[in-house]
Amino acid sequence: MNLCQCIILDRMVDLYQKNYHIEDLAPPATAAAVLPFPQWLTDFTGLKEWPGFDPPYIPLDFIHLDKIVDAPLHVQGSCTAVKLEHCSFDCINCIAPDDVYSCPVLSQTFDDGPTQFTTTLLNKLDEKSIKSTFFTLGVQNVKYPEVYRETMRRGHIMGSHTWSHKFLPSLTNEQIIAQLEWSIWSMNATGHHLPKWFRPPFGGIDNRVRSIVRQFGMQNVLWDMDTFDWKLGTNTRKEADILKDVREFKVKKSGKGMILEHDAVSATVNAATKVVDIVGSNQWTVPKCAGGIDYIKVFA
Ligand SMILES: [Zn+2]
Repeated sequence: MNLCQCIILDRMVDLYQKNYHIEDLAPPATAAAVLPFPQWLTDFTGLKEWPGFDPPYIPLDFIHLDKIVDAPLHVQGSCTAVKLEHCSFDCINCIAPDDVYSCPVLSQTFDDGPTQFTTTLLNKLDEKSIKSTFFTLGVQNVKYPEVYRETMRRGHIMGSHTWSHKFLPSLTNEQIIAQLEWSIWSMNATGHHLPKWFRPPFGGIDNRVRSIVRQFGMQNVLWDMDTFDWKLGTNTRKEADILKDVREFKVKKSGKGMILEHDAVSATVNAATKVVDIVGSNQWTVPKCAGGIDYIKVFA
């Protein structure tokens, strides 16, 4: 019997068995928030400014705590209490039936922005007329709202990557809700839309987290090709390694797949511009890959 009702990705299991941990890269907190805190959000939350890295939980009438799936909390890499039926991606690379993790056309996706480096990547994508998908952080949206809007204006799809890049399976239900609601509010205040697509930081997701993400109407997006570009700052991975792996993946998967990259720092953006040349101009956005809508709602 398949307890999990899910797929375990071969490639990812392979990586897991080699003791790789799925890591990720979040930019350092530098610039202060510049996006004004909207009056509607003051009216709703009673606050007057954007929160810090631990945003407050604000109850929402469409989020039902009693409908959240039960699963033990775990910190990143501590998987002994995690069972198959929890369908953890970070522990056993488990994919739920409604997770998006690949694409009929090999396509890049970008996490952790917007940053001051994002525009370099936008210019490269424009050269090839590529429309891509950016999973942004709330704390970055309120620091770089013009970069966020420029990314939208150039036709890319904006998805949520939480408010402040926490490893969600280690958080309480209320803390996870706070990470999602503040992310969504920052996207609403910046881009006047509500996101459909969600990517968990560090790939940290199980059926408890999924059951919260779904209540927001969002859909979980993973990947089947990790560039490990966050390692570029270490001595363990060079840009040439990334480019070689992408070339090999493209051949092995016959031009299908979804690539994880980051527009977080200059090294990852520089690598991404070269990956653009390898993957080529025929790339799809996540909604096109999945056959879904761009946003839950767009406000005029
Ligand atoms: Zn990330």
